Amino acid sequence: MSDRVIINADLKFVQGVIKAGGEDLKKCYQCSTCTVVCPLTPEGAPFPRKEMINAQWGIKDKLIKSMDPWLCFHCNDCSEQCPRGAKPGDVMAAIRNMVIANVAVPSFLGKATQSIGGSLALLLVPIILIAAVIFGINGGDFGFLNNPEIDFHANMISQLTIEILFIPAFFFGVITGILGILKLLKGLKEDYPPTEKGEALIPAIIGTVKDVLSHSKFRECGVNQNRNVAHMLLFYAFIGLLITTAGVTTIYYINFLNIKFGSGVALVTATPLPFFHPIKLIGNISALAAAIGIVMIAWRRLVSDNIGKSVAFDWIFILNILLIVTTGILAQVTRVAGSQIAYLIYYCHLVLVFFLFAYMPHSKFGHMFYRATALVYARYSGREKSVGMTFLEGKQQELPEETKAVA
Ligand code: SF4
Ligand code: SF4
Repeated sequence: MSDRVIINADLKFVQGVIKAGGEDLKKCYQCSTCTVVCPLTPEGAPFPRKEMINAQWGIKDKLIKSMDPWLCFHCNDCSEQCPRGAKPGDVMAAIRNMVIANVAVPSFLGKATQSIGGSLALLLVPIILIAAVIFGINGGDFGFLNNPEIDFHANMISQLTIEILFIPAFFFGVITGILGILKLLKGLKEDYPPTEKGEALIPAIIGTVKDVLSHSKFRECGVNQNRNVAHMLLFYAFIGLLITTAGVTTIYYINFLNIKFGSGVALVTATPLPFFHPIKLIGNISALAAAIGIVMIAWRRLVSDNIGKSVAFDWIFILNILLIVTTGILAQVTRVAGSQIAYLIYYCHLVLVFFLFAYMPHSKFGHMFYRATALVYARYSGREKSVGMTFLEGKQQELPEETKAVA
């Protein structure tokens, strides 16, 4: 008599995957075409066919602990070739969303960010908190609106108050992100214990950083390869904005602490920095790159047929970045133009940045945490490297010699 196999099907999880973007999941009839054409899948236990059946059956435990959904870069080569229109690329993306909802700490935040209603409720936190702080520190007096010289920090909310509000929000995002990573890692280790083929931890981290900086995985995609440009613009824009924030904060505190050269000359320019200050230039160029990158991403999601399905979870993040960049640029322009509307725009900017920071690991931004972890773990555990072929190259190598020239 054969061994009995007990499957713990979670039908709620199946519904969750369908709702999170995998609505054509049930069309799959397991032909494996998707796995054959995937340019990123390793040879042993390849994806995404097995994820399709696990998702159809609701094998939640297996999917939540698997590193494979994170090795997929949603290139949609598989969806293009699927004879049933089951859109395996979208199902893999939906599984990633479900993983975030399940590993995020605290879990109610991971679930709230999946929907528009939940995200709006979370947005109320910075809307009310920042408004209350501005109201409180100004004693309910908005007389500064009559002051023709517009200075956000001197008149509306000081740099120190911003830091008191934003540093805890940032660390809340980072600490809950680390807790989420630990939860993910626990599952990865159970599902795929490290093997002797794996790299040591430091080379695994260095290799992953190189892959991320060069976006090499994106370039292995076929139909959606040019998505690489928009993603890269956004990625380097974030680095530029991080440098800008660190630079402006340092300059502010050098001035605040009155640190000067021996001759008594000021060490740095006073804030707010002039438009053409190098730090400001890095910030503005980064903001422009972020704006172009996010508009390209949004535009492709709206008009392209092969980009895959976009759900609320994607759009909330895209909108958040788009509005941060827009309000950041408009706040500067209206300040320089001397318009009082600058204060309102700056307030909106602060609300949106707070939302991005505090809910980093719970929103789509969480990919940054979880994908990086899975990529390092894939190297560390010895999961075979991807076949690493573009779809066309793959087809060329599969073809008999005599037909290659024709193809
Ligand atoms: S998702 Fe499509 S290509 Fe993949 S196994 Fe199912 S039917 Fe075949
Ligand atoms: S979307 Fe691309 S990377 Fe992901 S499974 Fe399909 S072919 Fe592979």
